[in-house]
Amino acid sequence: AAALTLVPTPIGNLEDITLRAIRVLGEVDTILCEDTRTSGRLLQHLDIKKPQLAYHLHNEHQQVPRLLERLAKGERMALVSDAGTPGISDPGFLLVRECLARGLAVECLPGPTAFVPALLKSGFGAERFSFEGFLPVKKGRQTRLLELARETRTLIFYESPHRIVKTLGQLAEVFGPERPASVSRELTKLFEETLTAPLGELAAALGARPAIKGEIVLVVKGAEHERTERSKYVSRADEADEPADT
Ligand code: SAM
Repeated sequence: AAALTLVPTPIGNLEDITLRAIRVLGEVDTILCEDTRTSGRLLQHLDIKKPQLAYHLHNEHQQVPRLLERLAKGERMALVSDAGTPGISDPGFLLVRECLARGLAVECLPGPTAFVPALLKSGFGAERFSFEGFLPVKKGRQTRLLELARETRTLIFYESPHRIVKTLGQLAEVFGPERPASVSRELTKLFEETLTAPLGELAAALGARPAIKGEIVLVVKGAEHERTERSKYVSRADEADEPADT
């Protein structure tokens, strides 16, 4: 059995937890929690009583050496975050890296994460996509957006409800207001909704609401391939001069 197991937990609907996740949570010695109160409620719901330890962005550097010592002695631990898959825009990376560096086995269970349903509900291409997580809040934001403007893969962002309208406006400016996008709010919850429209329209529609609440995933269709775009404007004769794809 692995020393450390990453265990995905529901992103809203409590039914979204696997049988295996429940079994592992019941078997490990200790459960590392991003927030012991939030995870405590889930564990209570699952009727699992296990020692919990706080492991979050603000204490992970302190915690890792102690945890490694305990794991090396044979203790088994599960890591959970507040919602979804640990390590996806959530703490986890540091502990995983250090475990692997010491030859401690790490396992990650498949399970809920917010970006997959948002990507599929957008109806944009899911063959190739780029998960961008949270955009930089201030410094580096514009640079990142400019870098992504020509990206042809579908783009996925996590965004907070109080910034979404501003972000849609910025994206409309950099990517163009006609670029199709999709906002998924409160996935798997009672008031789940997905709005799909060009960036400009989405910014206007959400901007007209008195307030936006809940958790949000923003999906943006990739830029058209340059070749397709060019072929709209370039005559057949010009295209014939281009070397064939190999
Ligand atoms: N570890 C999580 C995962 O696997 O998706 C992500 C954690 S990150 C701190 C929280 C962000 O995930 C939210 O701001 C939102 O962008 C997205 N998110 C989480 N749950 C969601 C839900 N039910 N509906 C829409 N977005 C959600």
